[in-house]
Amino acid sequence: MHTDVLVIGTGISGLTYAIKLAEISPETSISLICKTKLDDGNTRYAQGGIAVVSNFKKDTFEKHIEDTYNAGDRCGDLEVINFVVREGNERLKELINWGTQFDTNSNDALDLGKEGGHSEKRIVHRKDQSGAEIQRALINKIRDFKNIKYFENHILVDLITDHHTKTNYNRCYGAYIISTDDEEIIKISSKVTVLSTGGAGQLYTFTTNPIVATGDGLGAAYRAKVKLEKLPYVQFHPTALVPKVKGETFLITEAMRGVGAKLLNHEGEAFMRHYHPSADLAPRDIVARSIMQEIMSNNHKHVWLDATHLEESHFISHFPTILDSCKLVGINPLKDLIPVVPAAHYSCGGIQVDKNSKTKLDGLYAIGECSHTGLHGANRLASNSLLESIVFSHRAAIHTSLEITKNKLDEKFFSMIPAWEGQHFSSKEQHHLTKKLRKELQETMSQLVGIFKTKEGLIEAQKKILSLYHETVDLYNNNKMSSELCELRNMVSVAYVLVNQAIEQKENKGVFYNHEYVK
Ligand SMILES: Cc1cc2nc3c(=O)[nH]c(=O)nc-3n(C[C@H](O)[C@H](O)[C@H](O)COP(=O)(O)OP(=O)(O)OC[C@H]3O[C@@H](n4cnc5c(N)ncnc54)[C@H](O)[C@@H]3O)c2cc1C
Repeated sequence: MHTDVLVIGTGISGLTYAIKLAEISPETSISLICKTKLDDGNTRYAQGGIAVVSNFKKDTFEKHIEDTYNAGDRCGDLEVINFVVREGNERLKELINWGTQFDTNSNDALDLGKEGGHSEKRIVHRKDQSGAEIQRALINKIRDFKNIKYFENHILVDLITDHHTKTNYNRCYGAYIISTDDEEIIKISSKVTVLSTGGAGQLYTFTTNPIVATGDGLGAAYRAKVKLEKLPYVQFHPTALVPKVKGETFLITEAMRGVGAKLLNHEGEAFMRHYHPSADLAPRDIVARSIMQEIMSNNHKHVWLDATHLEESHFISHFPTILDSCKLVGINPLKDLIPVVPAAHYSCGGIQVDKNSKTKLDGLYAIGECSHTGLHGANRLASNSLLESIVFSHRAAIHTSLEITKNKLDEKFFSMIPAWEGQHFSSKEQHHLTKKLRKELQETMSQLVGIFKTKEGLIEAQKKILSLYHETVDLYNNNKMSSELCELRNMVSVAYVLVNQAIEQKENKGVFYNHEYVK
């Protein structure tokens, strides 16, 4: 199959990119693929909303820039922070024009929420279902364009590069894709390939990310020799509900602390004031570490979130999903304290890209959570990731539309791409072994590469992951490629790079905390 542009991933970044490109370049054929269903990624789960300066009477771009830079422990790229914050407002208007419905107040203005690390109310939201609403509107919108096609149940295996075509142009020619319906691998050639594969939370046992978030784009980019940057900056969300809800870890949005909910220890004390002047609304890295400190020093399994001060009507109108999910596990948050722990949540690092989300490999872009743009520095400010996605998708689409006209790749080129070479049969043990290795990897990452790290722990993790890597390569060499093996191969590679980078990091910054470097 051939398409002008192949987009891998259908969260906010892949969909926004496709819509924008289809608008400016109606003759360009665009194919989107996703692992299972169009809304299977992290986007659908976003509760809080998008951080955008929209109330210019109170808020300013400068304040949002300052908040972003400070939350990132002053490690972010100020040029990037500047344009992302300034361009956000226009991109938000586009989302609204494409059909997204955000909550408004009695004056018909956007109803703005507040989250940790923000000096002003600026979170544009739809109840606690902001991501789901954006995803709904974007999926609806792509159906307007004849030049956009999408394929569900198709998984990226590898990017096609000079390694496959035996050429030397330093470019990407498309991707090998596995269809989960028949587990056959097809090649899709493209002038431009876009990775919008989301996060890698599944590297950890306890994560707010859905099952598809296995860092596949990062793994494929790494094999294509594209640089991965700042992987050890894994953000842990402070407040995930315990127990799991229907087998998945459920997030309690920071917006609840924005309306006054308080974290309490088992003595009933609001402990956050001991850790930071902004108490419960301190940046995420500080809140997550403080919670872990409380849990570890008192040997408890969780702390409590107290939202009992909220009126029932406020809960129902602002946090209906949280109310329902808590009730499903027997907690009534109007009366009961909510048990919470931190959970792996967001990859601040990712695939190295420039200011148009282009990688150093020609014809390859990376947008959204799988990319590293420099916006977040060492810690992402709450609700800045949806913002990053819309701004960089727009920039990448404009850049692609210009690139594609210059791109001289013709049919002859694509005919040089060989069919996927690999085993045709799988051993009986393959499924069981793949599952076992995935579990061992998650346990290693959770125990040794979590919120608190040590030098010895990282070295132990490195050894363990290297051994898991060899076992995975063995499985890969001796079995037919399957979707689960494909995920394991990516998870192990990404974990290995992450741990190596963590060992290299000699300073505690933002979400990165190694006991060795405490001053
Ligand atoms: C519980 C939760 C709450 C959050 N709340 C907020 C919030 O309030 N505000 C905010 O700004 N951010 C929030 N975030 C973060 C934000 O949701 C994500 O960073 C953002 O949605 C990522 O969008 P994306 O388009 O990059 O990827 P995703 O939405 O994760 O989409 C990834 C896509 O890639 C596809 N994919 C992955 N691997 C492959 C493969 N091998 N082959 C084919 N397709 C593949 C998936 O199927 C999916 O379609 C939250 C995240 C979570 C998990």
